[in-house]
Amino acid sequence: MQKPQKKELIASVKGMHDLLGDDYAYVERVIKEVRRVSDYYGFSPITTPHLEKTELFERPLGAESDVVEKQMYSLRTKGGDRLTLRPEGTAPIMRAYFEHGMGSMPQPVKVFYGGSFFRHENPQAGRFREFHQAGVEVIGDDDAINDALVIRILVSAIQSLGLKDIMVNINTIGDKVCRPAFRKELINYYRKHQERVCKDCKRRIKENPLRLLDCKEEVCMQIAKHAPQMVDYACEFCKKHFAEVLEYLDESSIPYFLDSHMVRGFDYYGRTVFEIIPTDAGDGIVPQAIGGGGRYDDLAELMGARKTPAVGGALGAERVADLLRKKGIKARSETHPKIFLIQLGPAAKKKSLVLLEDLRKIGVPVMQTLAKDSLRAQLAIVSKLHIPIALIVGQKEALDGTVALRNMETGVQETIPTEKFIGTIKARLKEFS
Ligand code: AMP
Repeated sequence: MQKPQKKELIASVKGMHDLLGDDYAYVERVIKEVRRVSDYYGFSPITTPHLEKTELFERPLGAESDVVEKQMYSLRTKGGDRLTLRPEGTAPIMRAYFEHGMGSMPQPVKVFYGGSFFRHENPQAGRFREFHQAGVEVIGDDDAINDALVIRILVSAIQSLGLKDIMVNINTIGDKVCRPAFRKELINYYRKHQERVCKDCKRRIKENPLRLLDCKEEVCMQIAKHAPQMVDYACEFCKKHFAEVLEYLDESSIPYFLDSHMVRGFDYYGRTVFEIIPTDAGDGIVPQAIGGGGRYDDLAELMGARKTPAVGGALGAERVADLLRKKGIKARSETHPKIFLIQLGPAAKKKSLVLLEDLRKIGVPVMQTLAKDSLRAQLAIVSKLHIPIALIVGQKEALDGTVALRNMETGVQETIPTEKFIGTIKARLKEFS
């Protein structure tokens, strides 16, 4: 007889992870911090669907961008619609801006978002296929203060999480008026070096010349060092805008570095682009950006809507979390409850849910192990965690409608009738605060 085959457990998809325990707490903390800071600056939260029409990303991000070319999770529905799991948050938010008539609200519209994004990249440290971002967008105004505000919010969130060693790498990539001349010069320059650049860059000369500048191949980085710089080609309008952004950053003491070779992966970017980099990644380690963003004044038009200036940026939650972990910054503050509920016997067990709910309603945290029935097992936890107050409900208390309160430090025990329950608990808690 053939042996029954052992079924293999189905594992999660490569590059996509369950978030639990500290990993969950870290990612949640990063997102909450960006939310908290942006809330202060008057941003409203928005969530957009995980699935969008594929064309929402194709043109705005650029057919030659890495994301559109290789990294989108796209599918065709039974009805024939082409849909894509969102690889980034900006295009969906711009779609929502028009779909909900936000153009007729007071401008600019300022929104916060946080959630999962999907890119079919090669998974490695700090690079996943499903990852989380927390970001902000300011839509409907081209004043340079908005660019500075977006950077201010992301940097403040990072700093208040406890990370100090960071740098904002910033550049201008000009606009539709001045970028073409720069592009042309760049192509001329790289044509002279086309034999030496990597395979991808050979293709980029024709398809996506701006991306030549941020190739990470050693030989290409050497060539890029002497390449033309956008700042030299920027029109007066872009130069002035960029100078203003930098003045605002100076004024608010945000550390930045003018990185004339920084470009960003999507076509919709124009003028300000930035990345936030940790400065203490260690010798010889190329630091990964923990955040990035920029101005996207042409996105609306690329989507077929009317011109609407905007700027935004996002933090990569897993990457910030990784830094927090390396720095020994905890995912959550450890506060042990001061009360443990011990229940003994079936009647007490039933009553315990009611007692816990009464305490929850007045905001008193209580620890319990409702599935454990032995007094010894429950007391062991109380002493292990040094919890100072034990509430004990046994068979007798359940029948009498009382609860025994034991001060674990002195061993003194008192019986509390139900009507005095809340008041007595509050008073005893004060003694231990
Ligand atoms: P981007 O939308 O590419 O500007 O990304 C913004 C931030 O998200 C980056 O600076 C990273 O911190 C993070 N990020 C982007 N792609 C990934 C990925 N595949 N895995 C983890 N984090 C990512």
